[in-house]
Formats: sequence, structure tokens, C-alpha cells
Amino acid sequence: MDLFDSNTAEQANLPRNMIENSLFEEEPDVVDLAKDSNTFPTFPTLDPDEVAYEPRSSRLLVRGLGENDMDDDEEDCESSARLLGMSFMNRSSSHRSSSSPYIRQSPPRSCSRPSGRTMVVCVFVLVIVASLTMVLYFLPGCTFTKAGCPQPNKTAPLEPVYPNSTNGELFPWAELRLPHSIRPLNYDLTFAPDLDSMTFTGKAAIEMSVLHNTKRIVLHAANLNITKATFKLGNGQARDVTVLEYKPRQQIAVKFPEELKTDQQCVLTFEYNANLSHSYDGFYNSSYTDKYGNKRVLAATQFEPLSARKAFPCFDEPSFKATFLIKINRKPTYMSLSNMPKAKTTPLSSGLEQDEFEKTNVNMSTYLVAFIVANFTSVSSSASGTNVSVYSVPDKKEQTGFALDTASKLLQFYNKFFEIEYPLKKLDLVAIPDFLAGAMENWGLITFRETTLLLDNNSSSLEKQVVASVIAHELAHQWFGNLVTMSWWNDLWLNEGFATYMEYMSLQEILPSFDTGNLFLSVRFRALDKDALNSSHPVSTEVNTPEQIEEMFDSVSYEKGASILLMLNASLPKEQQFKKGIIQYLKSFSGLNTETVDLWNSLTQVSTPRRNISEMMSSWTSQKGFPLVTVSRKGDMVTFSQEPFLLTSDNTTKAPRQWNIPITFVNDSCSLAPECRQMFNLSKKSESLKVPGSVKWLKLNYKNTGFYVVDYGQDGWNAIRDALSENISVLTAEDRASVIHNIFALSRLGRVPFEQVCHLLSFMPNETETAPVTEALLQLNSIYRLLDKRQESGLASRLKSYIQNQFGSLMESQTWKEEESVSKQELRSALISTACALNNEGYVAKAKSLFKTYTDSNFTFKIPGDLQQAVFTVAAQSDDGWKTLNALYATSTNDAQKRKMLKALASTQDPRRIAWILKAALNGAIIQTQELPLIINTMCNGFAGYLFAWDFVQVNWDRLIEKFPVGSFAIQTIVKSTTSQFSTQVHLDQVQAFFSSLKQRGSQMRSVQEALETIRLNKRWIENNLQAMRKWL
Ligand SMILES: [Zn+2]
Repeated sequence: MDLFDSNTAEQANLPRNMIENSLFEEEPDVVDLAKDSNTFPTFPTLDPDEVAYEPRSSRLLVRGLGENDMDDDEEDCESSARLLGMSFMNRSSSHRSSSSPYIRQSPPRSCSRPSGRTMVVCVFVLVIVASLTMVLYFLPGCTFTKAGCPQPNKTAPLEPVYPNSTNGELFPWAELRLPHSIRPLNYDLTFAPDLDSMTFTGKAAIEMSVLHNTKRIVLHAANLNITKATFKLGNGQARDVTVLEYKPRQQIAVKFPEELKTDQQCVLTFEYNANLSHSYDGFYNSSYTDKYGNKRVLAATQFEPLSARKAFPCFDEPSFKATFLIKINRKPTYMSLSNMPKAKTTPLSSGLEQDEFEKTNVNMSTYLVAFIVANFTSVSSSASGTNVSVYSVPDKKEQTGFALDTASKLLQFYNKFFEIEYPLKKLDLVAIPDFLAGAMENWGLITFRETTLLLDNNSSSLEKQVVASVIAHELAHQWFGNLVTMSWWNDLWLNEGFATYMEYMSLQEILPSFDTGNLFLSVRFRALDKDALNSSHPVSTEVNTPEQIEEMFDSVSYEKGASILLMLNASLPKEQQFKKGIIQYLKSFSGLNTETVDLWNSLTQVSTPRRNISEMMSSWTSQKGFPLVTVSRKGDMVTFSQEPFLLTSDNTTKAPRQWNIPITFVNDSCSLAPECRQMFNLSKKSESLKVPGSVKWLKLNYKNTGFYVVDYGQDGWNAIRDALSENISVLTAEDRASVIHNIFALSRLGRVPFEQVCHLLSFMPNETETAPVTEALLQLNSIYRLLDKRQESGLASRLKSYIQNQFGSLMESQTWKEEESVSKQELRSALISTACALNNEGYVAKAKSLFKTYTDSNFTFKIPGDLQQAVFTVAAQSDDGWKTLNALYATSTNDAQKRKMLKALASTQDPRRIAWILKAALNGAIIQTQELPLIINTMCNGFAGYLFAWDFVQVNWDRLIEKFPVGSFAIQTIVKSTTSQFSTQVHLDQVQAFFSSLKQRGSQMRSVQEALETIRLNKRWIENNLQAMRKWL
């Protein structure tokens, strides 16, 4: 799916897409100096039962950290455990000692004081008695019998400890993952939702095949009230069976007195009822208000990653692919949709109608099943023989045209590019009024937020870019994810990294005017920033618990995944080799499940000359972080060395990690055209090469297509700075953005002093390109926010002047009229928002006057889309403006615009209004709860909002995790937004105390480790650079 975030400058106000499920985060808003913050993610929780019942005693899965994780990430775990004031290992043992019924607690002590000698004697006697007792106690009873003890069979595995089912009977399975003795073949599913009572009944008949002899069938179900279950073996009679349930693992099971034999076929049928979910997953209810003010209800599904089990009993793991036949009973006033085209509609005696959909012609993972009951309308067209439709609520039918057109183009593009036709006869794209993720790639029935699909006539190119990107991402999943699926969630990046990569790649091909290159570049910078933290994780990471799985939906799977694919593509010698490899991969594994190595093998097979891609790429997927490449030069010898780029605030010893780095570089004699690029493969710690003595400087990582940061050493940096000061055009815009990103990263690492950062930035007054400007603004903005929040007001205002000096002339050259180029819109919105946030009088006055014209025209005057956020944010700072926007927010039907209004409303500095918005969003009636992560993120950028929001999160934590699962992208965003601008010991202690008090309600999330690390890094950076800033700003 697409997480909802927004990437660069102005886009901060637009949803972007990591689309899928959980990432609804907002990226730092370059634009707004006073408001913004990065957001990103996290780790999981385990039910106490899981600890107690984990099968083999050595495998304690304690909240996201199994024993294997400890091997790999021991340092992380221990240090974070220390941070949280607890130890994972202790946690499990203390849990046992305090709660296990099998271990007696020592009675409270009460005794008189004996003399020293008595004590010594007593202790001695007691030790001997205790030792004898223990020996006798632990020797088996057979020891002293005539027959002696039977020889234990040393190879027999220990019997797992089975948990108790809800009815008290032993549950026949003791693992989180399902057994592989049974394979589902087909699901015949009937759903009858009642949108008045918000409940549904269901019937699921699952045909299965026995792979290995077994006496049990174990599958998933969550919160389903099963009223009847029958079992039919082969052609035999169906008979009633008892269903056992083990709720902590959301598993149900049926036990059989005799073994089911390999290759037998059987059918298990369940009848059940349940409530429609009130959160954003499973089969959930949603509502909206139509233009006549009537509340309309609907029901939709969101199953990825683990919620299909909330709608029907199923084998809810991605490798259990099967076919599906779905029927839906509904009132005649509603319509229904599912993955496949509708086959027929039959009237039922109850006055309802039953829609039956065609059986899927493909095997599909459960997380991709989808259905909707609503009163939507649609527009359709045909593309490459597929019927493409876009559905929305009736009032927004006119906003579907762009999506229909773009989806059709992209479908044709992918059909051709992958050389595999989209396999279904129809493709529906549906805008759901209440939807948490950006979008979800359900096969044939892609669901979206309204903001990521609908556009009206006034929408800007930048808004179109967002919609096009989300559609491109979801459509790519129809191949990467739906056709070829990762075997398990540890390789989620195979879905998400690829869809993210294809999203930029396809748009550069079919809609080049959207200029997605800048967006992808900034995405790569943010992925580096996040992966630099010790709390990061390898792209391919072992995951077990639901919370760990939720946490995989993060920037490492999406953005780092996409970045390393770009790096690989850029390093392959022949054009099209990468494309050939992925076509080979899709064709070889069509309809199947894969692991990371399958992708590398496919790429290796097509490489000419033959090259072991797996050897090179596994260093990027199996270890966290990325390399820092250091360049040193002596005469004509240049040495490249690598070490892990690790941001830690303590002296954590760096694990000896090494990467196989496809280094690219250009030099002063040829630095712009792709032909200038030279390659060097650095696979050792350090290697040297010769360059002509006349070379003045080298720039590594051409256009920043590699996933590493470069330190040129003082001389190297000075040479680059001198060259740029003389003529900024000696490097491409991407390379200028790259050196800016890298020098700030090195400053955060403590490798370069702040003055060197300022030196490099001396070329900025001559800069006019979007990528370098937005990157520099983003970096300076985040420093400003730290100073502002620490109440270093003197320094903060000097930084404002510095920004004004660096970017003032570029700001002045911006107009407030319609602008066509997406790139120029990004640049302008970043600059003008910054100017407004800096309280630059001229810009604030202009924004106010535009807003006045807008209100005077009864909101018919068109403010250019890329400037709306700046204008609304300025307007919301006045009492009247805030009230006007609030009233407009309630009635507007343009969702992209509404989101900007909401951000503006949330940027208020009035504490009562801040409190009101937070409360309203939590309640969900006036402001949808799906917007809460956005609201909190926006608020935290302002001074008044950030402490308030942190307070709100602490007080309302339990309600937040009711709405957004622990570990989900929404929760990751909330944790990051509220904590990432703290930089003092007091705040560090507060954050640490709060999260460790949560125990299984979130204390073990990776985002918590990340938050604590970030605060300590902020603190260190500020303390180390305060003096330098006083001197240089
Ligand atoms: Zn996705």
C-alpha cells in the first residue's frame, strides 16, 4: 500500500504515497520555518501469554525481539533496553517469576535478629540440607528402582507447550506462524453486512488440500463469533466440528481423532457474525455527509497486513495463496464491489439482493482480498482490453477524470514494460471517504483516500503529481506484490521498495512534466537520514509478531528499498539489463511467492558479462545502515575508504559492517553529462586508484544515485566549495543538492564543524534550482526549529537573517501568479512559505491580501494551488481568518484543499484552538480521525503546539492505539512528530519515562528507540555547535 506522507517542500501539505497501509506521515515541510518536522518510524509488543507459552524454552519472543534478533542486534536491544530502564531478558524472566503460577513467591520476611555465629552455623546447615533436597528432588523417581531409568532419546524434540483455548481445552498449536500441513485452495465467501446495526454475518467454505498427515487444521480468525462449523472429507458427509480458539494469536483450530492423509481434499465451513470494525482495518464502517447534509454510511475493507482474519476465517499469511469466490448480500439501495467483475445479482426472499462475483482467475494472498458496500458512482474507460473505472461518492463524480486517464495510461505502460498483461478483466480505483493509508493495492479493487485520487478543475500540477504517483505505485503492485508476492513480511521491501521505485520510474516516462526526479531525490535523502540511526533495521529483517509486521511499513522498506534498486540499475553496465532482470523475475515467479535472493538470482541470470548480483546486493539488504565513504588524496593517488555511517550519541562500538559499493565519480574536467561518470567498485575497507595529477576535485555519487554519504576531507570540501563559488554550474543540480545533504549529515555525525557547513553554503545566493534550494531550506529549517524550541531566541533570529540573506534575492524573484512547471511550483512554494514563516512583512501582507480577495469573491477567486498552503497558514493566524477557514473546511468538497485548510488551522498558536482541534480529531465527528497524524505533525512545528501535542499524546495514548495499531505508520508518525524536536535532558527523561511505562502498549516500538536516539543526538549537536553558531550566524 501507499503510506501517506508528503515529500518535499510544498508537498508537505499534500498526501504522498508510501501509500499503502500505514504510512500516513508528513515529511518535513521545507517551507515552513516555524512549523515542521520529520517523521518516521519504529518496534512491537507481545502478549504476556506469548512469552509464557512460547514453545521451546529458549525461544522467548519478547516483544519484537526473538533470540535471533538478539544475535544480530544485540547492541541495539541492550542499549535501548537500558534506555527504557529495563532489559528484554529481564523482562521475560521477571514476567515469569511474578506471574507464573508454577513458581512460588518468597513469603515476606519477618524474623528476629540471631547472633553472628548462629547465623553462620544455620546458613551452613541450610545450604547442605537444601543441596541434598534439590539433588533428591530433581533425580527422576526411576533412579532408585530396579529397572533404572529408560535411556532418553536424545534426538527427540522437546514437546511444545500448548496453550489453553478459550473453552479450556488444549489448543493444538504453539507457534505464531501457521503449520504447513494444510494448504487452502479456494474460499467461497458470503458476507451480509447490516449498515443499520453496523454488524455482519458471514459464511466461509474453505477447500483445502492436505500436504502432510496431520490431526489438526489451524488457521486465523479474530473477533469473529463462530456459530457453526462443519467439516467434509473428500466426498463424505459434512459433519459438525468443534472450533477451538486461542485469542492471543488470533488462531482457531479443529482437532481430528484420526489423521488426515497427504493429498486428501477437504472442506471446512464456518458460519459466523461480527461487528463492523470501528478502526481502519478489517471490514470497517465509514461514513460521509452528502451535499444535502445527510449522513451516508458504507462498509469497506483494509486487510494488509493482518486483518483479513477479522472478516473471515483464513490462512492469513501471504504464502497461502488461493482462489476466492465472493458473494455479498445488500439492500437494493446500495451497490457492491470486489476484486473480480460481478457475475450476477439474485433477489433474496428477505428483500435484499445478492451480488456474486466471478471466481478469481489467479491465486491471491488473503491480504489482497477486498469488497465494498456503498452508494458510489463511477466513470469508466477501456485500456488494453481491461475495463478501468474510478468510483467516488456521487457528489465528487466530476473529480475522477484525471485519475481515470492516468490509470489507463499507466496500465498500458506497465503491460508493455513488464511484458506481462494485467491478468484481470477489470480494474477499479475507489476513493473511500474515511481511509487511513494513502491507498491499498487490492487486486482489481484499489482503494484510496479521497485526497490521493480525486482532483477538481482548480487542482494544481503539484496535486496532480501526488495523485499520479499514488496511482503509479498501486498499479505497479498489481505485478510486484499481487502477481509475485513476498513469502513473508520480512521481505516486504520486495513489494514496497519496488512499487516505490516503479512509481518514479513510470512517471518519468509517461508524465515527464511532473518532474518526479526531485521528489525521488529528496526521498533518498530522507531514507539516508533515517537509516543512519542505530535503531534502523536491515531492509530484509526477521519479523514475527503483529507489531513487528506493522513496523515493516516504514521508510526502510519503501524508500531505502527503492533507493538501492536505483543504485543497482545505475551501476549495471548495459542499458535495459535491470529491466530484463525484473521481467525475468516476474515471469519466473508469476503467481508464486519469493524471497530477496530470488530477485538477485534473476538479475544475475541476465547479466552480461555475468556478474554475481546477489554478492553485491546482499550487503545492502541484510545489514542495516549504509557506508560513509571517505576520500583522501596524495598527488595522483586517491584512496576511497568505507565505514558505517552511524549516528549514535554514545560510544557504541561499530559492528564491522562493510558494503559492496558501486562508487561513481566525476571530476572538474568532465562533471555534468552521464558520459563523465566513472565507476569504481569498493568492496574492501579501503582501495586506491590513480587520477590525472591535473584533476582539481572529485565529486562522488553522481546525481546521488548511490545509497551512501561522502566525506571529502577538509581539502576536498574546500576544493568543491571553491569550484561552486566560482561557478555553480560545474555540478548538476542533483549533485549540488547531494553535497548540501552530505555536509549536514556529516555535521550531525560530528565529523565537520558548523563553520565548514556555512562555508559550503556560500554558493547558495547564486542557486536557482529546486533540489539544492529545498534541501538547504529543509536542513536550516530543522536547525531553526531546534533553536526555537530551546528558546535560543537570539540565535534563532540570527538564523532567520542568515536564511534571508542566502535566499532573499531568489525569494524576491518569485511571482504569485499561476505557474505551470511543477519544479518551479515546488521551489516557489518552499521559498514563499519560508518567507511567510519568517514573518517577512511584504510576503505576509501579500498572503493576507490574496486571502481577502479570496473571501471577498465568495471563495471563487483562484489562489494558485502551490501557494494555497502559505496563504491559508498566514490567514489562520488571525482570529477572523481562522474562523473563516474553519467554516470553509466544514463545507468544502475539494479534499486536497481541505487538507491544506486543516494544516493551516492546526498551525494556530492559540492554545484553546489547539486543544479543540486535537479533541475534534480524536472524536472524529467534525475532523476525521484519519487526519490526526497530520494534525499532530503540523502542530509540533509551531512553538505553542509542540508541548501541547506531546501532552495530548501521553494523556490519550490508549485511545490512539485503539484507532491506530501499535507499530503502525500512523503511530510511528505521532511518536516522531511529538518528540523529534526535543533536545534537553529533561525532555529525554520525560519521553523515556512515558514510553517505558507503556509496557506492552508500545514501549518496545522501534520508533521509541528512534525518538530517544534523536533527542540525544539533537542535544549533542546543539551543545557542540552553539558556540560556532554564535560566531558564524
Ligand atoms: Zn505499496
